[in-house]
Amino acid sequence: MQVTPYRPDPVYLSLGEGFADPVRPASFPRHVIRFRNDRHAAEMGLDHLRDDEWIAHFGKFEPLPDNLPEPLAMRYHGHQFQVYNPDLGDGRGFLFAQMRDSNGRLLDLGTKGSGQTPWSRAGDGRLTLKGGVREVLATEMLEALGVNTSKTFSLIETGENLQRHDEPSPTRSAVLVRLSHGHIRIGTFQRLAALKDAERMARLVDYCLRHYYDEEPGADAPVRLLELVAGQTAELAASYMAAGFVHGVLNSDNINISGESFDYGPWRFAPTWDGEFTAAYFDHQRLYAFGRQPQAIHWNVVQLARALTTIIAAEPLLPLLEIWPKMFEPAFHRKIRERLGVTSRSEDEDAALFTAVEGVLAGTDLNPDRLFFDWRGGVCPHRAEAYQGDHFAAFRNAIAAYANPAARAHDYWSDAAPVTMLIDEMEAIWTPIAESDDWTSFHDKINAIRRMGEATKG
Ligand code: AMP
Ligand code: MG
Repeated sequence: MQVTPYRPDPVYLSLGEGFADPVRPASFPRHVIRFRNDRHAAEMGLDHLRDDEWIAHFGKFEPLPDNLPEPLAMRYHGHQFQVYNPDLGDGRGFLFAQMRDSNGRLLDLGTKGSGQTPWSRAGDGRLTLKGGVREVLATEMLEALGVNTSKTFSLIETGENLQRHDEPSPTRSAVLVRLSHGHIRIGTFQRLAALKDAERMARLVDYCLRHYYDEEPGADAPVRLLELVAGQTAELAASYMAAGFVHGVLNSDNINISGESFDYGPWRFAPTWDGEFTAAYFDHQRLYAFGRQPQAIHWNVVQLARALTTIIAAEPLLPLLEIWPKMFEPAFHRKIRERLGVTSRSEDEDAALFTAVEGVLAGTDLNPDRLFFDWRGGVCPHRAEAYQGDHFAAFRNAIAAYANPAARAHDYWSDAAPVTMLIDEMEAIWTPIAESDDWTSFHDKINAIRRMGEATKG
């Protein structure tokens, strides 16, 4: 077995001052490891840590060797529900460390719930344990479904009692460490635009191209960055849709410049293919409803383009915004085929398949996971009787040519039901934790999700 070495690389420091503020982590009364992601820790060369060392770094935030000497709360602005807010920034988190994985990719360890910062406003800087559990389950599920997502690296319960209006309170506290391909947001650019700080904006563009897109910046760097971000965010929007995932808060400070999905608060999976299905109880206008996510993400990319006009004329940026929907659509079709475990045929057949899948999902109360599970590999060996009516005719007809039973080789595809992560299941995992500190269902679910991920990979 090859052991991956730990490769620290705190390149954020190369940006210079003015992007973040050094902060002190909160000191917590208690540390109990609830989740350590040894799978990803292994890729970072950090899986050898003993539990007490893990707590020292990911609960007490003692610096990792040759890494950032102190945590940095990042500065950013952003549009929240399309209203500009210059008062954002890391209010309960910070950048803790940066390192390279086994493929040389730059990854951050960032926190959530690690204490107050200059950007906390009235907030306590804390994360609830339930919020942490929800982020673990969201990231595990999305990763298994092939969505480009941040990972939850660590969740440590911290022994405080928190007051929240959206959870029975007092409620337990936790600190989470997120492993992600950067923490630069569209809102990071918007802040520099608001400050008319062209010099730092140019530096940030170069930094992002170099470290998140592996390109040496040239004279057209801002145009190139927008082009790459447009492509990655179109992929991301397509992934959310094919996964039936509703992020809930697609504000511009929650859109990563690398196109990786992150920051999971009031997320939900849509139980049925309902475009109006909304995750956040405070999203009264349904701005970030299931079916409106592509528009919302596109809107955020437009804000990035506007910010970039601080250092470049608008003309070369406009066409990149116009083609966003044209990048989204084929990506969405491809992701639906991936969920079905079938490969592309002709353009016409692919379009017909997509229309038929959407038609069936939109026209019935079928759970999308159920359809994709039953029809994995374009065949339906176990529950054919459920798809007999006339309204399934077009779908059955379209999918017939795609039959690829080899995609069902893993025994997961012969289970009685797909692994899903609906809100009732989430609550059923939380209840025994809240009532008797019983974490069995939580760990069982993670194991089931990871097995589904293996089956989906092939
Ligand atoms: P979010 O909608 O979770 O992405 O958060 C929006 C802003 O609120 C960010 O600046 C967060 O850091 C901040 N924030 C959220 N919760 C808290 C909290 N409990 N304490 C301090 N700041 C918070
Ligand atoms: Mg956020």
